[in-house]
Amino acid sequence: MEQNKDLNQFDIPFARRTHLNNSNSIFNKKLLILSPFLFLLFSIFALRLIRNIEIGSLDNLNFQDQINHDHRILGHLPYAEIPKEKLVLIEPNIEVHIDMRNSLLNMREEAKKDGIFLVFLSGFRSINLQNDIFYSLKSSRNQEAAERARVSAPPGYSEHSTGFAIDIGDAAHRETDFQTEFENTDAFRWLIKNAAKFHFKLSFNKNNKFIDYEPWHWRYEGSIEALKVFETSNREL
Ligand SMILES: [Zn+2]
Repeated sequence: MEQNKDLNQFDIPFARRTHLNNSNSIFNKKLLILSPFLFLLFSIFALRLIRNIEIGSLDNLNFQDQINHDHRILGHLPYAEIPKEKLVLIEPNIEVHIDMRNSLLNMREEAKKDGIFLVFLSGFRSINLQNDIFYSLKSSRNQEAAERARVSAPPGYSEHSTGFAIDIGDAAHRETDFQTEFENTDAFRWLIKNAAKFHFKLSFNKNNKFIDYEPWHWRYEGSIEALKVFETSNREL
């Protein structure tokens, strides 16, 4: 009995060992055959990971450093340049989006009836022109970009490139053109009272935390295209 027991004790582990050894050896052989394929798969995976980190994630990180979640740059939202065929010349040097031409001209006519003479100072501005304005004024005034951005949009970030923005002055007080003092003119008071009837809205009011108050700068929101363009801006106000 004792001998049998000993044999049993010996047999079982031996059998297990043999089985395991056989199994290991089959597994090792399979691994040996498959190893070039596994190496290839691993290499592809590793390369893709590295590529994603280098091209994707890191770029995204840099991009995220430059802009915040709503794509503002120095407080300004990005705006695409209007296609040329949608621009119309309403007077020398003033081009606007065709959607707002009639409304803008009607507004000037209505103001005239009330004895107010509105002057159009600036309409559409190309991204190239905005580039010149932003960088030349910045260097001539020795201003930092953030400082300059309070009074002028960086190129690609101006409402003027959409054709839906218009800077307005008072013919009786040209000294207030592009000045905060424009808010003390009859033209400004008339606009505050009447501009909404013509679908115009003051873009940068006194509550804007990034951009200085611009009583002369109005934008048109009287068409679906215009509403789409200013959707983000309106949502965040
Ligand atoms: Zn403006």
